Amino acid sequence: MNLSVVDRIRAAVHEVEHHTRTIAPEADPFTGPAERVYDYCRQHTAHLEAEQQNASEALIYKQGLEHAIAAGDTTVVRKHPCPQCGCLGLYWRAESRRAVCVNHYCVDDNGLAHTWELKRLAHEHVAQKSAVARRAT
Ligand SMILES: [Zn+2]
Repeated sequence: MNLSVVDRIRAAVHEVEHHTRTIAPEADPFTGPAERVYDYCRQHTAHLEAEQQNASEALIYKQGLEHAIAAGDTTVVRKHPCPQCGCLGLYWRAESRRAVCVNHYCVDDNGLAHTWELKRLAHEHVAQKSAVARRAT
């Protein structure tokens, strides 16, 4: 049994429960096994505005990225276009726990490469998906 994995899962479950009860205060505390927490979140937020449901999906998606990275697969960030320049050239910088853009022209006011938290990439991903879903209807 790997304790850091247990701690990480516990923290992830807590994050989802906290998020759920913040946007849906009437939700009961989460008591089920860890793998049920996303169902719990979706059940209790299904009646909310699309924006809040997207926030839930972004959180769930972000945790998927975190789990992949924790398991050693940092290539998951490459699938995401840079939110600034749109290029598919992000790589994972473990020390800062952020995705960094490789585009030399994609820099901030100080000339430093743009970097992104997983939360931002997840948010962009879900927003993109729901925009596609809206166009399809
Ligand atoms: Zn960029």
